[in-house]
Amino acid sequence: MKLTSISAFQDNYIWVLSDTEGKCVIVDPGEAAPVLRAIAQHQWQPVAILLTHHHADHVGGVRQLKENYPEIAIYGPAEISIPGLTKVVQEGDCLRLLNHDFSVIATPGHTLGHISYFSYPWLFCGDTLFSAGCGRLFEGTPDQMYQSFQRINQLPSETLICCAHEYTESNVAFALSLLPEDEYINRFYREVKALRAEKQPTLPSTLAKERQVNVFLRTEDPDLQRKAKKDILFQQPNKIFAWLRAKKDAF
Ligand code: ZN
Ligand code: FE
Repeated sequence: MKLTSISAFQDNYIWVLSDTEGKCVIVDPGEAAPVLRAIAQHQWQPVAILLTHHHADHVGGVRQLKENYPEIAIYGPAEISIPGLTKVVQEGDCLRLLNHDFSVIATPGHTLGHISYFSYPWLFCGDTLFSAGCGRLFEGTPDQMYQSFQRINQLPSETLICCAHEYTESNVAFALSLLPEDEYINRFYREVKALRAEKQPTLPSTLAKERQVNVFLRTEDPDLQRKAKKDILFQQPNKIFAWLRAKKDAF
């Protein structure tokens, strides 16, 4: 299987997994035009669309793709009501696509119905975990998002994180504002700067990498806990997480 990213809008990625025959699965097609161009270029045969949540920058291209490929299967969480949705999927469901298993993981927080799809080694986590960052809490609570991060953190360290936005540079700038001396974050900042200067994507990331550079996965880090002490009374991991999310909102 081959992973391809398609750029959309300002900073979205639409991920495509394709097999050796050219059959492909498309994740979160927020717009159809760049996907149709990629399909033509690679001579793919789209078999399915996987949707993580209801926002327009993730589902906006579905209608046109369905018109072009009436046989395409469309999977998404209950929060999405799209004409032609093949099946509503939820935590614990497993889809068999391109001869691979895709398991559905509930990852609420950004939206209440947000789900992620894991097909080893690829995780399609939409707007939940970003490289060095965390999706905004439009519908859920910090605790829900914290639990979603714990779920993701249970996956193997070599998991490839395929999130839906190129927000890495600003996320790592935020991390650096909190932990200016941190060796991992400083090194990653230089890597990210170099990639973005060349207009290269910083994704996919790996879970191993995220455990080093993503402060939202480092809620048990003594340096962060010390930093939080002046703002919050209790420094349990979920409290640190909520503190980080609030600080990022104001950054
Ligand atoms: Zn979103
Ligand atoms: Fe988004």
